[in-house]
Amino acid sequence: MRYRYHVEVGPDGVRCRAVDQETGQEGASLAADVLTALHEALVRAGGDPAGIRALEGVLDVRAVTQSDEGPQARHQAAMDAYLAAAPRTDQPDPREAIARATHELFAAGLITPTGGNISARDTDQPSRVWISPSQVYKGDLTPDDLVLIDLDGNPIGEQPYSPSSEFRVHTTIFKSRPELEAVVHTHAPYATLLAMTNTPFLPISSEAAYFRDIPVVPFIMPGTEELGFAVAEALGRSGVAVIMQNHGLVVAGSSVQRATDMTHVIEATCKKLIIMRQLGVDPPVLPPEVVMMLRRAGRMMA
Ligand SMILES: [Zn+2]
Repeated sequence: MRYRYHVEVGPDGVRCRAVDQETGQEGASLAADVLTALHEALVRAGGDPAGIRALEGVLDVRAVTQSDEGPQARHQAAMDAYLAAAPRTDQPDPREAIARATHELFAAGLITPTGGNISARDTDQPSRVWISPSQVYKGDLTPDDLVLIDLDGNPIGEQPYSPSSEFRVHTTIFKSRPELEAVVHTHAPYATLLAMTNTPFLPISSEAAYFRDIPVVPFIMPGTEELGFAVAEALGRSGVAVIMQNHGLVVAGSSVQRATDMTHVIEATCKKLIIMRQLGVDPPVLPPEVVMMLRRAGRMMA
């Protein structure tokens, strides 16, 4: 896990902070919110063994129920128990998430029968990545079809298929951005058209305002190391989306779901921008101060 969770009990209640283990920086984490709520429940239940037992199944609370050294010790035991459980709550099986997102994006026409692929870091070993297989029909992909590779693209142990031929785009991003958990690559038609028609990406809705102009990398042969480097470089230290000219869209995020949601937002925005351009209409954009405020808030979402 890259995040360590710190619990602080103050006059305003309990707060859980997610701190990046490598950089020491505090990050936004859905898990932190969930764990704060769980921890409050544990503290409330601290003097009531029946209440604590009711939480069994959510957390390993044996340490709490076995402690009979008073409220302070129970409190500490509650924290220990939930810290041990913390990293798991925000990490569903990445294979399930990839299969679900693939079906969703396939139904929306953003992933085609053989075009587009999704990857996510392994829950226990972040230097390993689950990725869509090569040459498998994406319409009925199952979690068992996914391939586990290392960050150089080598399959780990026996795998059902070869990894996606575009794995280098995924692994290069994971190597350069340790905080990112998932990469979604689609052959999104309107995002692709946006780059092909040299149309700027504009903040025409509160959702679209989160993204700055999305960088475009020139056409580079798919599957090459060169393309992987170009995409990771265009993404930079804080970007989340890149369009590959004459090819498709790449979106990276803190989970498969987040990256998938952002893919939908970008594609819907590109569709509106392309239609407005066809109609010869200048897109009305949000006021700059609103865009700035939304971008600040949106940074928490990626
Ligand atoms: Zn592709």
